[in-house]
Amino acid sequence: MRRRLIAGNWKMHMTPQEAEAFVARFLDCRTEASNVEVLVLPSYTSLDRVARLLDRSGIGLGAQDLHFEPRGAYTGAISGEMLRASGCRYVLVGHSERRHVFGDDDATVGRKLRAALSAELLPILCVGERLEDRRSGKADDVVAAQLAAGLAGLKVSDTESIAIAYEPVWAIGTGETATPEQAQEAIAAIRGWLAGRFSATVADAVRILYGGSVKPENAASLLARPDIDGALVGGASLDPDAFAQIVKGASG
Ligand code: PEP
Repeated sequence: MRRRLIAGNWKMHMTPQEAEAFVARFLDCRTEASNVEVLVLPSYTSLDRVARLLDRSGIGLGAQDLHFEPRGAYTGAISGEMLRASGCRYVLVGHSERRHVFGDDDATVGRKLRAALSAELLPILCVGERLEDRRSGKADDVVAAQLAAGLAGLKVSDTESIAIAYEPVWAIGTGETATPEQAQEAIAAIRGWLAGRFSATVADAVRILYGGSVKPENAASLLARPDIDGALVGGASLDPDAFAQIVKGASG
């Protein structure tokens, strides 16, 4: 039985002070539910403070990216070991903004995912097609290529430490959500790919989230689909009340 995961990607928002106010309000208004794991992904400068505020709350902490090397002359970069030491358990790899704004290609994403595992972090591999890929019927091929590179070199036992987020690029930050049917279909195809690459057992065990303009109003209908195990939430995760409502919807 896969436990639901709701993750809030704060992107480049919130100072440490604002993050503190968010956590105080979220802890006040959230509903605790044993069948839902909740995770926030602040910017690097807030990690340490949020880790301390979330201590013993049951809410997890993650980062939005990492460098693929463990240490060295990489000015401005952050390693997996640093994230672990700041209290992170999870890290995103291959978010569409990293791919399209910062130029992370499929091979780089694969290196980052393996670096996360080496640092004993749990990577969430983000995949998803652009609108032109979908229109030209190439969505499944694009996602399959991202999976192949992102999960290159992994053994079956490594798959216990990963999650995947299907985030169609055309739905991220646009207000346009994939319909529950579109999201279910794409995520079922990802499970099919995992079955071919690893095994049916792995395909059944790996958690696969949907991301792309998830809000309190649409979360429950997306999460009602059998293959959708949770949500990666951007914009709506910046509002503690809205994020708490999404978590509540996931627990019902
Ligand atoms: C995201 O950043 O991963 C995301 C899905 O953003 P939004 O919910 O704003 O579309």
